[in-house]
Amino acid sequence: MKLIDRCNSCGKGLVERGFVTFPCPICSNPIGRCENCREQGVEYVCENCGFRGP
Ligand SMILES: [Zn+2]
Ligand SMILES: [Zn+2]
Repeated sequence: MKLIDRCNSCGKGLVERGFVTFPCPICSNPIGRCENCREQGVEYVCENCGFRGP
């Protein structure tokens, strides 16, 4: 399984607390998001299947 070490939305390294990783709802590809992007509701795009989500 691929290790997630950066935010899918802004590309920032996930070194701070508050980030989350979760599987893509479509293809289960792991996605990481930082706390900032989560709070702002920044859109993410799955690199595997192209799914866009809030
Ligand atoms: Zn981010
Ligand atoms: Zn996907």
